[in-house]
Amino acid sequence: MTDWTQVVDAHGAAGRVPLLLDQVEREEVPEAWEELWDRLCLHGETVSAASFAALPRLAALAPTCAQALELASAIVRGTLRHPDGEALLTSCSNEVAQLRGLVDQELRTRPADYNRLFGDLLALAGQYHWSASMGDFTDDFYAVSCPGCEAEVTIAVGDYGCYTAIRDWDRGDIERRTLRPAPAEELRDPGRWMHATADRDGQQRLAEGIRYLFGRAECPACANVFNIAEAHTTANVPPALETH
Ligand SMILES: [Zn+2]
Repeated sequence: MTDWTQVVDAHGAAGRVPLLLDQVEREEVPEAWEELWDRLCLHGETVSAASFAALPRLAALAPTCAQALELASAIVRGTLRHPDGEALLTSCSNEVAQLRGLVDQELRTRPADYNRLFGDLLALAGQYHWSASMGDFTDDFYAVSCPGCEAEVTIAVGDYGCYTAIRDWDRGDIERRTLRPAPAEELRDPGRWMHATADRDGQQRLAEGIRYLFGRAECPACANVFNIAEAHTTANVPPALETH
């Protein structure tokens, strides 16, 4: 049992949280959900110890309540934004697995908000980095540092094209080089799994974008050919987490 006097939410003491959970377990109360979001996942991203403490009860509601599934997933997406997030989450690994199953099931129905749910799935699978940084590939730009010469390189995947370039303040993306998407059969995890999921659900643009993101790029500065996903992960994962 959670001792709610020992945890804090986004507004300090978390005493209201168990009362609000009692309320939504009894009936749908929009105001209670609004306050739970505010206290457990402020602005859709700020999580606290109370957020993780509430996960088991939200997970129990999730099979029959879309609100609970969405809030629980949003909390898991915030794991790395809390200093003890990963540690707090290990005590609810069963719930996380269950939530992942529910989101996966939902994705198979090809919902209108597929991309948001796909991001939830990534977080629930422990892919926090891609959950936070991957777009929908309509107009995505990823900044990486070339592993060969450390030049700042822009990777574009979207309607403007799929290329690597040097971003110039005045002249835009110059010295463009065409990206080399990975053939689906050569993808490695997590790219392989991500691609297979999007492909299974008929999400053509997402599946294609993943092949580009997990493919290779030529550096316009030194012609070194490098793996985009590896370079992007290195550039964006905080140093303290690299040893995990
Ligand atoms: Zn280079």
